[in-house]
Amino acid sequence: MWGRSEDEVLHLPILEAMPELKAQGIDELLNAVYHGGEKFYFTERPVDLRRGDHLETLYLNFSYEPLYDADGVINGFITIGTDVTEQVNARLALARTEEMLRFSVDAAGAATWHMDIATRSFVFSEGMKSLYGFRAEEEAGYDDLLARVPAPYQQTLKEQVEQTIADGSPYLNEHPVKMPDDRERWVRAIGKRYPGEGKWGAHFSGLVIDITDEKLEDMRKSGFIGMASHELKTPLTSLSAIIQVAGLKLKDSEDAFLKGAMERANNQVKRMTAMINGFLNISRLESGKLIIDKENFDLEALMRDIADEISLTATNHEIELDLCGYLGIRADRDKVGSVISNLLSNAVKYSPPGTTIRVKCGIEGKYVQISVRDEGMGIDAIDIKRLFDRYYRVESSRTKHISGFGIGLYLCSEIIKQHGGKIWAESTLGQGSTFYFTLPLIG
Ligand code: ADP
Repeated sequence: MWGRSEDEVLHLPILEAMPELKAQGIDELLNAVYHGGEKFYFTERPVDLRRGDHLETLYLNFSYEPLYDADGVINGFITIGTDVTEQVNARLALARTEEMLRFSVDAAGAATWHMDIATRSFVFSEGMKSLYGFRAEEEAGYDDLLARVPAPYQQTLKEQVEQTIADGSPYLNEHPVKMPDDRERWVRAIGKRYPGEGKWGAHFSGLVIDITDEKLEDMRKSGFIGMASHELKTPLTSLSAIIQVAGLKLKDSEDAFLKGAMERANNQVKRMTAMINGFLNISRLESGKLIIDKENFDLEALMRDIADEISLTATNHEIELDLCGYLGIRADRDKVGSVISNLLSNAVKYSPPGTTIRVKCGIEGKYVQISVRDEGMGIDAIDIKRLFDRYYRVESSRTKHISGFGIGLYLCSEIIKQHGGKIWAESTLGQGSTFYFTLPLIG
């Protein structure tokens, strides 16, 4: 601890052996012990000690006590010291990290909360209080915050919180907050379950940020997309009808070009209709107006119809069906159809001509599981997690010439989720991808 060899200190007065102590008040301290009989106890006191040719600050726990001879006269002192520099430095580093974290949280305009899982005690920052429209001096707890979240969102929020607490899955929720003056604010909350450690019990904490501007911008955008797609639909429907009538009239025509042209025109109109329907559905979804209209039907028959339809245009791919026979489900037939159609079109779009696309079905308990496998370019593990995000497209040299808007899979995932099913993808880059979804079976 002293940083000296025995030869440097033995038989020397301490302040001569360690002159650096003088300037640090140790000489006065020793005087007080030696001449005044005082005792001193220090914890984590910084002391600069020589280390080679420089001074280093050590943190020491130490005590000084006088020693008395048989006549009660002080003839020395005893000191006991422990070097706690490492512990103190670790604590200071932690405090610095905490300070930086707090600074970043504040700078990002974020507010934080902490919920003890065992006691359900909920503590949140001033920032969070103000995000939910409470004045600093107002008393507010978890239930008061929840009461500011409109009904359907409140239910989902509660369920997600309980889900994270139960299984540790990441918590991410966007919801509106009704302010006392009736204004609406949107917030995004991100949280995590932390295991108990030391004096901390298991807790659920995270942060909340204001996303009102972002949300309003999104709503304006999707409002515009909705309006434009709606307007485009009317002329497109007439165009489709005209092409179909012309196609019928040309059925027996000798003119092979005209016959083929009508068929191709019809296919292009179908593609455009699917695209416009996608945009319309996005804007309905964003405004909470995507209605799921359930009926009983046979999923197998629907899959066959769609595979036949896609085969008409995807003449360079083989579509192989490995189905399980009648599959009674209760769902929105058109929307489930658009999911299958999307997955098949993507399989065609992202795999080279001459390859095979395999559509398979299986029963997993009370669910039917459909998979669409291609032998295409595959998807990187980093992208797989985000494929189902709105407007997400993989950016790579392989995909840059393939057009699209990144809304297909987002819609598929929302439709499947609204039916109580799951959707996911597995892939090996360069070898192909498989997309899966499940739907509940009837009964
Ligand atoms: P879009 O195809 O219009 O870009 P999607 O939402 O349907 O939008 O797909 C999102 C992204 O996922 C695509 O841009 C593509 O990079 C990737 N992707 C989807 N399906 C496949 C597939 N079968 N193989 C490889 N990549 C795919």
